[in-house]
Parts: sequence; structure tokens; C-alpha cells
Amino acid sequence: MTEMLPLLSVKGLCKHFPVYSRGLLNRVIGSVKSVDNISFDVFTGETLGLVGESGCGKTTAARTILRALKPTSGSILFHDKGRMVDLAPMDEKHLRSFRRKMQMIFQDPFSSLNPRMTVGSTIAEALLINKIVPRSEMKDRVAEMLTMVGLKPDDAVRYPHAFSGGQRQRIGIARTLILKPSFVICDEPVSALDVSVQAQIINLLEDLQQRFKLTYIFVAHDLNVVRHISNRVAVMYAGQIVELGETEQVFNSPRHPYTRTLIEAMPYPDPDRKPVYRHLGEVADPANLPKGCSFHPRCPKCSGLCRERQPCLTDHGSDYYVACHLPYG
Ligand code: SF4
Repeated sequence: MTEMLPLLSVKGLCKHFPVYSRGLLNRVIGSVKSVDNISFDVFTGETLGLVGESGCGKTTAARTILRALKPTSGSILFHDKGRMVDLAPMDEKHLRSFRRKMQMIFQDPFSSLNPRMTVGSTIAEALLINKIVPRSEMKDRVAEMLTMVGLKPDDAVRYPHAFSGGQRQRIGIARTLILKPSFVICDEPVSALDVSVQAQIINLLEDLQQRFKLTYIFVAHDLNVVRHISNRVAVMYAGQIVELGETEQVFNSPRHPYTRTLIEAMPYPDPDRKPVYRHLGEVADPANLPKGCSFHPRCPKCSGLCRERQPCLTDHGSDYYVACHLPYG
């Protein structure tokens, strides 16, 4: 992996939201550090899983990488025509040509589809806006895309309410891929679906990845799904990446205490293996993070150093990174 050029390289990315005082003065009195100094690479054709509890900053990170949100600082380097281009400081006009190449599949397939538009119009909309194909070819392109995601060309004339949750997610995927992006962020794409349908959508995403040589960031809180689909996993806590490595290494021998807690609480299909739930107290408040390691009030290994100094994400060899003063061996 390391010898390959990354498709995406995120360096020191921050997204902080200002907190204002009440009253007339409306002064900035602090900030919510939703994403705080995260760095990682994503290589062509791989799937990087991004996991963590609700509110850990994974969706904000995803939206910032796609420039739906303006970063506070840091770089978002995207490989384009043989060079790395920084999207972080770009204005909307210059971003337009990159938006086609970087797309997102949303969690809730129903609310992301316009109920007044037919499926065909929904999928064709992006082609129209970007003037990618002539109108005469539009119908064929939509029919081809519908077939690829497992729907029928005739479905183009129907409305979203006529479809099941899984079918709506297929429509959402067709709408995303019609622009032929190279990089896709899947934001909890199966968490709103029945378990039986989840597997079908995951298989579809894997098939399409092979077919179109797609690169994914897969954002999810369901660790079983992430383990299945990801080549590498990044674990986020309080806006930061605390562990990053090859998927089986992270799941088989997690080194950060937070990752270990998450994995121990995973439900397993084996009835003899019970998940371990530890009550660790509240998740850190990103508007008021504790001094030192953000995880220290919940950590079973916490020491004096942890309360004083924030650990950096450091290389433990073989592209494995951990942010902890006392990682498990
Ligand atoms: Fe726990 Fe200390 Fe590691 Fe933080 S740095 S996770 S408090 S052992």
C-alpha cells in the first residue's frame, strides 16, 4: 500500500464550529472541535472504514473531505491527472470539476430522494446539470445504470414511494454512480435497512467497486459490516483518529483501549461468545474536551501522563497507527 500513490491524502484536517455567547454581543467564546487534526491516506481501489460512536465526528469528517463543509484548517489532497490537488482552500467555481469525481451515498435513501421526481429524472438530474451526455442519450444511460444496480429500465417512470427501502438505496447508488466518480463516501449506507437487505446492498457496493475501480470511505457504526467490507479501518474518538490499520489486525488485536471496548461490545453470531458491555460513562463533549487524552475519563488504563498530555497518532510499524501512551501489546 505505502508504495502506491494515494487517491486521497488528508493532512491535519480540522473542522471546528464556533460557540457564541448569548445576548447582544454575540462573541465567540469557544469552539466545538468536531474534527481535530486528522490525517490518513486512501489508496486507489481500497475501502477505508471509518468507525466510532455517534457524535465522534465521522460524518462531519466525511462531509468536510467532500467539501460540503469548509475546513477550518488542513489539506485534502486529491489525485487528479498525475498531480495532487488541494481541495481545502478551493472556491466553489474550481471545486465544480472535482465534485463529479467525489460523490456520497447517503444513509436514508428515502429522505435523499425527491418524492415528486420520477426515478429516471432523479438519476438523470446530475447528468443534465453537468452537461455530460446529450439529452438524446440520457434515457439509455439511465436504463443502463438502473440495470447495473439491479432494477429494471421500466422503473425510471415510477416514483420513490413505490419502492422498498433496499430498492430506494439502489436508486441512490445509481444516482451517485451515473457521474462515474472515482471516489465515493458511503455514509452509513445500510444502517436504515433490514438486516436481510443490508447484505444485498453491501454485495452490490462490492460488485460496483470491482466493476468501476471505485475507492470507498465507508462510514458506519456497525463494526460487523465494516469488518466485512473494509481493507483498512480508522477508529475515531472525539474528533480524532485513535487507531488506524489493516482491518483484521485492528479487529484481532486492537491496541487502543477505546477500540478494544468497541470490539468487545460487538454482537457475534456465535451463541457461546457473549459481547462484553462496559459502562464507561459519557462520550467526551467536543465543546469541552478534557485535558490530556480525550478518552482518559473513560479509560481503564488511564495514568497520570494521560491526564496531562494528549497522545499523538504514532506509527507502530507496517502502516499501523495508534494514539495512546499505554497501548495494548
Ligand atoms: Fe487510555 Fe492513556 Fe491511552 Fe488515553 S492515552 S487511551 S487514557 S491509556
